[in-house]
Amino acid sequence: MPVIWLGDIMTKLIFEKSKKGTDGINLTKENINFDFIDKKYLSEINDSILPEVTELEVMRHYKELSDKNFCIEKGFYPLGSCTMKYNPKVNEMLAGLEGFTDLHPLQDDEDSQGALKLMYNLQEALKTVTGMDAITLQPAAGAHGELTGMMIVKKYFETIGQNRKNVIIPDSAHGTNPASAAMCGFNIVEIKSNSKGQVDLEALKSVLDDNTAAIMLTNPNTLGIFEENILEISRLVHNAGGLLYYDGANMNAIMGYTNPKLMGFDIVHINLHKTFSTPHGGGGPGAGPVAVVEKLKDFLPSPVIKYNGTSYFRDYDIKHSIGKVKAFYGNFSVLIKAYAYILAMGKELKDVSANAVLNANYMMNKLKQYYLLPYDTKCMHEFVLSGEWQKEDGVNTLAIAKRLMDSNFHPPTVYFPLIVHEAIMIEPTESETKERLDEFINVMIEIAKEVKSNPEEVLNHPKSTPVRKVDETLAARKPDLAYKSIH
Ligand SMILES: *Cc1c(COP(=O)(O)O)cnc(C)c1O
Repeated sequence: MPVIWLGDIMTKLIFEKSKKGTDGINLTKENINFDFIDKKYLSEINDSILPEVTELEVMRHYKELSDKNFCIEKGFYPLGSCTMKYNPKVNEMLAGLEGFTDLHPLQDDEDSQGALKLMYNLQEALKTVTGMDAITLQPAAGAHGELTGMMIVKKYFETIGQNRKNVIIPDSAHGTNPASAAMCGFNIVEIKSNSKGQVDLEALKSVLDDNTAAIMLTNPNTLGIFEENILEISRLVHNAGGLLYYDGANMNAIMGYTNPKLMGFDIVHINLHKTFSTPHGGGGPGAGPVAVVEKLKDFLPSPVIKYNGTSYFRDYDIKHSIGKVKAFYGNFSVLIKAYAYILAMGKELKDVSANAVLNANYMMNKLKQYYLLPYDTKCMHEFVLSGEWQKEDGVNTLAIAKRLMDSNFHPPTVYFPLIVHEAIMIEPTESETKERLDEFINVMIEIAKEVKSNPEEVLNHPKSTPVRKVDETLAARKPDLAYKSIH
């Protein structure tokens, strides 16, 4: 039996609430005459498949379901790597303005000056943040940006007549990095991290050769640690003739303090939905613009938005363009939100990074007496604990995550990065108050104490969720979503 139902809390399925003959609203009776529609467009009503409930019960049903969602408006959401911060609601209002939503993407440049100006200004702002020379706004997410970047790497080497096949990726990398490189036909060469959780220079040197196309890194890396040898890394890779790809998912740690260009990178993606605010739980939409150095600008997807001194226009004439990676110009509404956020923050974008880093260090230092901190050094915007001490007492990281859910906290990211056993990856973000951080710290400390005094009780959670424990493997491999099968 994979699921244990909590009878008193469980909301009945809408099919179980159905009572034959109940009307919500019925448009098929005398009140509406459908004679004006050609019969061939009308289907027969099949009374066997639709639940029958009143209008009020339908509303209550879906409200109850929505209340079961956890979201940033409901509580702290320290999901490491994902940057689940507060996204100003005014951005949604702006993205919903008619002038934006009613604009057809095929309208002429002269009719779309406002939208083109917004994209142009966003391009310029992101070039400033990354230090890069040219940019595309088209990719729809970080992983899509990686794919775009790897396509650029591939086309670049084809164009200069070199057949380089290897992409180097550290063992701490996000899984999308090797996946994106592999999709472009590259071989993945994994290198081990050193005892400081950083790229091991000797390991890097041993794999660099004239077959090296690129290295993919995020800095700070997925342990939340800044690669102190980044300049040496970029010198070594460039000397071997390779390119450096920057996974910009952690950009919120460095804005205004340094940038990927200064570190020596050639290509970078930015997850607008992480660093520049867009709600992104449940799969999007997001945006993953890709910025490049001067020598790669002719490889960007087309069109790029340009300005000729009097008007804005779409430039499709890009010499070695890899082509399009998405219809039209990317997820435009996400671009609006990012632009609104950047305008609203102005020079304070730098404070976003400062506060994100401060909050993470505060939390890490409060928690490291209670949870193993495998890489005990100053962190950037996130840090990774290990649940190994708790595991010795019979409570693994997954159980700690489940325990947190009963205290109105979304669990942190767990079991990633893979190089930390029983990993608990915490990213508080800049948008939380000290009181909220303290609340989370205290609950984490309480749990660590409870593991010592009463591990059985910790394992008995969660108690407040509609489904208490699921079989994680079965739930992922054989999702069973049809209501009939639970009967
Ligand atoms: C989130 C993330 C990605 C993937 O970005 P998506 O926008 O989710 O596709 C890649 N690398 C790192 C380090 C990330 O945190």
